[in-house]
Amino acid sequence: MQVTRTIAEFRAARATLPGPVGLFPTLGGVHAGHLALVDAARAANASVVSTLFLNPTQFGEHEDLDRYPADEADDLGQLEAHGVDLILVPSREEMYAAGFDTTVHVGGITDRLEGARRPGHFDGVTTVVLKLLNITTPDRAYFGEKDAQQLRVIRQLVRDLDLPVEIVACPTVRDPDGLALSSRNAYLSSEERTAALSLSRGMGLASDAFAAGERDAETLRFLVRGELEAEPLVRVDYVSLAHDETLAELQGEVTGTALLSLAVHVGMTHLIDNVTLG
Ligand code: AMP
Repeated sequence: MQVTRTIAEFRAARATLPGPVGLFPTLGGVHAGHLALVDAARAANASVVSTLFLNPTQFGEHEDLDRYPADEADDLGQLEAHGVDLILVPSREEMYAAGFDTTVHVGGITDRLEGARRPGHFDGVTTVVLKLLNITTPDRAYFGEKDAQQLRVIRQLVRDLDLPVEIVACPTVRDPDGLALSSRNAYLSSEERTAALSLSRGMGLASDAFAAGERDAETLRFLVRGELEAEPLVRVDYVSLAHDETLAELQGEVTGTALLSLAVHVGMTHLIDNVTLG
């Protein structure tokens, strides 16, 4: 794996790679969920490129940028072991050079869920993703369903701006007990980790009820909330059952496919998870 630290160096190496090229962009804190995306990219492309960049503009002022898991050597080792050919580890100074003054804003769906809770978050995501796509020029880019809203926002960005890239979504990888893998799981104490299992349990209750014929949106949300609120260490930010594409909150009877998504704090740690119903 060739490690590059400037955009020019990356571009020179990228020009020699055979296509098609798959991209896996990450903030770091690499885990098996990330590596499943790399494996998917490896299986479908002649070359795999990655970017490792803890993008400050997608973190709010009181969020965890300063304590986000960052072990570059470990991240690079894991990415190399899974067959990444070329990686860019850019500096903040080069990504946001003096005078940088452009923001890419996707409307509509960014007002909801994580967007409502984290003002400016998706502007940070879409701006950096567009930059990374322009720098790396992949044929395909790999994103996780774990970040369901982010995935939809990026698809909208690509559609609206006619970006010549295929966005490939990969299913959420979980620990055997159901906890979705996340870089932020590293913050959890063992009691907090046990409490965090209520997310997958709550989604399981709703999925089972849905499979048994329950279609009332409020009842389905209530089932999840009950499971989360039974855990004293969990503070619910939202439980949403929304239209799968627009993410508009559903009322009354659910018809068609719906996205059940939740966000909580367990102690200081922000966790999100989701499952598709129908
Ligand atoms: P991040 O470094 O957190 O931005 O994550 C990089 C990519 O990995 C994003 O597209 C995430 O959606 C995806 N991802 C994170 N956790 C998981 C997981 N448990 N399963 C599958 N994909 C994931």
